Amino acid sequence: MDKFVLRLDKAIDAINDADYVLIGAGAGFSAAAGIEYSGKRFEDNFADFIEKYGVTDMYSATFYPYETQEAKWAHWARHVYVNRYSVGKTKLYEQLLDLVKDKEYFVLTTNVDHQFWINGFEDERIFATQGDYGLMQCETACHDKLYSNRELVFEAIENTHDCMIPSDLVPVCPVCGGNMEINVRKDNYFVEDEKWREMHDNYSKFLEKIGTDDRLVLLELGVGFNTPVIIRYPFEQMTHNNPNVKLIRLNRSYAQAIPENKDKTISFDEEISEIFDYWTKRI
Ligand SMILES: [Zn+2]
Repeated sequence: MDKFVLRLDKAIDAINDADYVLIGAGAGFSAAAGIEYSGKRFEDNFADFIEKYGVTDMYSATFYPYETQEAKWAHWARHVYVNRYSVGKTKLYEQLLDLVKDKEYFVLTTNVDHQFWINGFEDERIFATQGDYGLMQCETACHDKLYSNRELVFEAIENTHDCMIPSDLVPVCPVCGGNMEINVRKDNYFVEDEKWREMHDNYSKFLEKIGTDDRLVLLELGVGFNTPVIIRYPFEQMTHNNPNVKLIRLNRSYAQAIPENKDKTISFDEEISEIFDYWTKRI
């Protein structure tokens, strides 16, 4: 790989010269922004759940088979509070917005922590494909409406005892009376509501606007192999199919380009925050 500074300059030049910037952001980007799911942040916020259930990090804790709705919602309320409602703006997301705000940009993200909205990215330029921690749906998707969980989460946080919430706080589906779930894609019951379809349309329209002579930069941020079919593989394919596309890939563990795209990919396995600190000075 080229020297770090050389790659940093190459990448920022490509972004500054681009007609369009398509951002693809995955879990690694929010982790780099400080929303880490393991280590001290997890231990500080989930000590009682660690003791009771032996959970080892926030991500796997969301898959724990809690036996009652009271336990399940005590956990989800904590998780959603810690990662969605109590976070606020983050430096890294703000730096990213500074980098692209005067460009024709669009954000495709698998992150469900609402950070793009919280940090002021334009609503019509965001497609969060995998849901939102702030929304709830019917567990069996009996209808396609989504519901805010803000009130529930704050009340649950206040009223959690021994990793349980009171039964009268447990949400029920207003249509079928069944259980509710957080609106995060994990099975075939994931609800795609009107807003989701609107975001999907906005993304399609963004792609349609790009002409074959336009310079497009794909800025891939912290996208691993959890759900590569959403961002990583399509970005590789777009890079391969169009001579005017450049892929900038930031990933601590999997920064490498596929061989076919070697000359059109600029890879970084360095600290994401360090990269953005440098770029911010060069905008
Ligand atoms: Zn229902």
